[in-house]
Amino acid sequence: MTRKGASHVELVSAHGGHSGQFCQHATDTLEDIILAYIRKGFSWVGITEHMPPTEDRWRYRDEQEAGLSARFLYDRFADYMIECRRLQEKYRSSLRMFAGMETEIYPGATDYIRQLRREFSIDYIVGSIHHVDGVNFDGSAMEYETAVNASGGVIPFYTRYFDIQYEMLQELKPDVVGHFDLVRLFDPDYGEHLSHPDIRSRIERNLKLVSGLGLILDVNVRALVKGAGEPYPTRWILEQAGALGIAAVPGDDSHGLDTVGLHIETAVGMLAELGFDTRWQPPAGRP
Ligand SMILES: [Zn+2]
Ligand SMILES: [Zn+2]
Repeated sequence: MTRKGASHVELVSAHGGHSGQFCQHATDTLEDIILAYIRKGFSWVGITEHMPPTEDRWRYRDEQEAGLSARFLYDRFADYMIECRRLQEKYRSSLRMFAGMETEIYPGATDYIRQLRREFSIDYIVGSIHHVDGVNFDGSAMEYETAVNASGGVIPFYTRYFDIQYEMLQELKPDVVGHFDLVRLFDPDYGEHLSHPDIRSRIERNLKLVSGLGLILDVNVRALVKGAGEPYPTRWILEQAGALGIAAVPGDDSHGLDTVGLHIETAVGMLAELGFDTRWQPPAGRP
């Protein structure tokens, strides 16, 4: 911990630390990423690698193309947890680090998440959704369009996303809710769609559940890396979260050295401006 003081807001990330060592679409080793967080003066970070797929058909496209089996990805995840524990210990005096996992939600995923959580005593989980009814939507604009069409249009697509999120929140009670409105990713008209009465009511319902369960909201600046004008979630959702007393914490969702801490100050500034408590609450299951 460095530069502590009454007026100083600590740098933290509740979601990120994907590394090329353990993730096909990230770069650099996990140790180099940890060292970068230390260099940048972070007080604590949650490292939240993607969960391995339950079976081959749920692999990401890049994993399929690289010929990595679900079995291999499970073994690599086991190695990831071992490496997290080693780095937690090695850098204990310079950085508080949590060894986490980011979820997928598709048929059969929830039981597997519970199993992995037990098996590896994972410090905490980030509840994220990258599929709507089994169709991955965050890989590319083309995949996004395919997923929207599979749902029968943009409003049903948003509707299903927030209904799936509601079920996920109830079933998993994830310590951190990842990029709450990722559904808007490749939608230039997301402002209008999030405000649609059918969607807005679901967002409000989900936020009430997040509040009731006492979960942390990830204020995720990877949106900015991907060209959006604001983090996830969009401003009015964040304002509602604040009104409901939800704790919100910055997440860089880093996928390599080039995105460690990138744009984190935007989230910090926004949360301070909206009156959130900037004595960031770490995720549960702390080491
Ligand atoms: Zn990723
Ligand atoms: Zn994610």
